[in-house]
Parts: sequence; C-alpha cells; structure tokens
Amino acid sequence: MATGGVGAVYQTTTNPLVATGDGIAMVYRAKGTVKDMEFVQFHPTALYHPGDRPSFLITEAMRGYGAVLRTMDGKEFMQKYDPRLSLAPRDIVARAIDNEMKNRGDDHVYLDVTHKDPEETRKHFPNIYEKCLSLGIDITKEYIPVAPAAHYLCGGILVDLNAQSSIERLYAVGECSCTGLHGGNRLASNSLIEAVVYADAAAKHTLEVVDQYDYNPDIPEWNDEGTRSPEEMVLITQSMKEVNQIMSTYVGIVRSDLRLKRAWDRLDILYEETESLFKRSVASKEICELRNMINVGYLIMRQAMERKESRGLHYTIDYPHAKK
Ligand SMILES: Cc1cc2nc3c(=O)[nH]c(=O)nc-3n(C[C@H](O)[C@H](O)[C@H](O)COP(=O)(O)OP(=O)(O)OC[C@H]3O[C@@H](n4cnc5c(N)ncnc54)[C@H](O)[C@@H]3O)c2cc1C
Repeated sequence: MATGGVGAVYQTTTNPLVATGDGIAMVYRAKGTVKDMEFVQFHPTALYHPGDRPSFLITEAMRGYGAVLRTMDGKEFMQKYDPRLSLAPRDIVARAIDNEMKNRGDDHVYLDVTHKDPEETRKHFPNIYEKCLSLGIDITKEYIPVAPAAHYLCGGILVDLNAQSSIERLYAVGECSCTGLHGGNRLASNSLIEAVVYADAAAKHTLEVVDQYDYNPDIPEWNDEGTRSPEEMVLITQSMKEVNQIMSTYVGIVRSDLRLKRAWDRLDILYEETESLFKRSVASKEICELRNMINVGYLIMRQAMERKESRGLHYTIDYPHAKK
C-alpha cells in the first residue's frame, strides 16, 4: 500500500490534493497501529499565491545559494532565531517565519535573491524563475512572497523491517508508513530513498511467505442498500474546507494544549456530521476522502496531545523543551 502523504488535510500544502491520508485512515479503522502522527513537516518557503493549492515549492537550495528572508517591510529577521540565519534547518526557519507572520499579522514573508547575479539565478533556478515570472514577479529584481506549507509526514502506519504493518500481510511503503527512519524530523530527500529500500524489502518478504497463505476470493460486493443518492456536494466540500482551517489554525507549526483542545472540539462536530452522512448516502470518492481527512486530523491531534514535550517537528508552547 502506498497512498502518499496527508498534506491535503492542511489548508496550505505542497502535496497533491489526493493526499488525504486514505491508507493511514484505512489501517486505523482496521485497528492497525499508527504512530508518530504529530511529526508533520512544514516546508518553510512555499510560494505565497492565494488560490494555488497545492502551493508551488521554492527549493531550500535557494537559501543555500544566498537568498535572504525578510519580513514584509523588508527587514531581515533570522538573526533573532538562529546564528545560521537563513541557512538554519527547515523546522527552525518554518517556526521563525510562522512567528513573524503571527506577531505582525502578515500573510507571508519574502525571500530575496535580488542581490545575486541575475544570469546565475536564472541558470540555477529556471523553473522558479519562470513560475514567478508567470505571476508577474521577476525574482532577479523583486522579492518572492513565501509562507510555510504542510509538506511531509514522518509518522503513519507502523511497519517492521519488511514493511509489514501490525496487520499480517498488509504492507505499507512510502509516506503513509512509519519506519522510524526519520525520527521526529526528516532530513530533506530521505523519503524517496526510504520508499525504494522498503519497497524492495516488502517485495522480497512477500515472495518468501506468499505460499503460506490462503486467499479468500469470495469478497462480497459493497452493499449500499438503504442508502440514498449522494448528498449535495457542497456539504462535503464545505466540511473539507473546515478540516483544512481547523488543522492549519490550531494544529500547525506551533501548538498548545488550548489550541489542540479547540481543534478537537471542532473536529468532533465534523466527525459526527460526516459519519451520519456516510451512513445514509451512497459512498462517493469525496465522502470517503472527507472521512479519511477527519480520521487523519484526529490522529495528528490526539498524538500531539499525548506528547507532553517539544521534540523534532512537534513544537508546543506549553512544553517547550524535549524530555530527557
Ligand atoms: C513538492 C514536493 C517535493 C518533494 N521533494 C522531495 C525530494 O526532493 N526528495 C525526497 O526524498 N522526497 C521529496 N518529497 C517527498 C516525496 O515526494 C514523498 O514522500 C513521496 O513521493 C511519497 O511516495 P508515496 O509513494 O508514498 O506517495 P505518492 O508519490 O504521493 O504516490 C501515491 C499514489 O497513490 C495514489 N492515491 C492516492 N490516494 C489513493 C487512493 N485512495 N486509492 C488509490 N490510489 C491513491 C496517488 O494518486 C499517487 O499516485 C517531495 C514532496 C513534495 C510534495
């Protein structure tokens, strides 16, 4: 099983919008073990362009190249957070940007490469140059508006070294899995390598054990007797937007007990409404995705509430330090 990340649970994300956590939610409902869901990685610099979903990614290589972060009034701010300034790691930069945006009430910050040689910038970052130009921003002359976006989930379906979940014969590979390899904070670029290594292990293990199992080919058809035609789509799409708002507002980069409790209470209302809708309407892709998003949101907040410390990608103002 590989059904990607869970970014679409958040309002701002770099993930494709099919990333609604379907695999994780299925395993959770089947009583499999799901772990480390509180460790959601936010990419610090997604292009801020309201209405774009998913958000376009401005690679961190740009900060490596010399790009400088600035608030909307043009001032540098990373000196307040880390001696490495704009070269600080992803989670520190994302938290710093989040803090500046919240304190100032701004929707984004800027990434500035205008001091670099324009020819070099175009050569190193042709896609970013073209994308921004298409929106009327010449990055060799103007600052790039950026904001953090949900990007990667370290946790997921707990698997062993063969990629097998706690449910026998169910394998999980890729972002939906939790191998433990990333700990609480993924280093950039490790996920694709992880997926390849675990897919190889899963394939080999399956070949070793495949003869030991019987299969039941008599799986009954889905029975939707007693359900009515799908409800108005607006009920589902509106609830999806509410999940996005709850997750981004209260379960984002910086958390607190109060924010998580508030998120929990609001998600609970959506859960009750959606379960009742699901039971009485013919199943559609959209209602299944909404249900899965609510399941995944619930898992992220419950596991965030259980972790009474700040560690890796989970940061809470109520417990700002890691437990020893
Ligand atoms: C913009 C961006 C840049 C990234 N850059 C890097 C990088 O440089 N290096 C790195 O290591 N990682 C990177 N990552 C992370 C990496 O791409 C993902 O972790 C990885 O692709 C996850 O693989 P996957 O197979 O689990 O999911 P995906 O690649 O998302 O594939 C999941 C597939 O499942 C399908 N699907 C979804 N729902 C269902 C369903 N219900 N039923 C059936 N099919 C379904 C989807 O259509 C998709 O084809 C990046 C991620 C993003 C978003």
